[in-house]
Amino acid sequence: MDDKIYRMYELLYQRFGPQHWWPGETPFEVMVGAVLTQNTNWANVEKAIGNLKERGWLSPQALHSLPLEAIAEAIRPSGYFNVKAKRLKALVDFLWEEYQGDLERMFAEDTDTLRGKLLSIPGLGPETVDSILLYAGNKLAFVVDAYTKRIFSRHGLCFEDVDYHQLQSLITESIPKDVSLYNEFHALLVKVGKEYCKKRQPLCANCPLAGL
Ligand code: SF4
Repeated sequence: MDDKIYRMYELLYQRFGPQHWWPGETPFEVMVGAVLTQNTNWANVEKAIGNLKERGWLSPQALHSLPLEAIAEAIRPSGYFNVKAKRLKALVDFLWEEYQGDLERMFAEDTDTLRGKLLSIPGLGPETVDSILLYAGNKLAFVVDAYTKRIFSRHGLCFEDVDYHQLQSLITESIPKDVSLYNEFHALLVKVGKEYCKKRQPLCANCPLAGL
């Protein structure tokens, strides 16, 4: 347990306030966004989701019945669209096979059991799965990403190539087990990572975490 970690959250929240994550009108939209955001920026994800909405395809029923090529074409703006279409389809097929397409039933599952099942879907790694659990399912799952690794390693809390679960445990053992806190903390880390803790040149002088 490291007090510095909760202090980090407090400093970020004091400076930036609530981040209102994750942008999305429904849990299903959040889940789709979590797959589409792999290796791209959010503006591209928004375009892809906009295309799905325009066509009336942003539902478990539609994505389950559509051919892969049609989905790929609609999500083209998100990049790697053929790969992502396969991942989306695999996720939606899983939702139908295991829970008859009912997202509420899926999220009623115990968190660790569901995490294990989602991780067995091709192309879904721990960051995507935890994003789905936390932001679509409101479940206790802390999301670790490249920004988290960079910020924590620059503050001497881990190595930059730290294992996902090792860093996740370090964080969750140092903060209260609270879904809203997990939600906010990850969003705040992304914010400070984008604005200050840049890859090549960290802008420490005005960063809210400079005092740490
Ligand atoms: S920019 Fe500097 S102070 Fe801010 S998180 Fe990165 S290393 Fe820390």
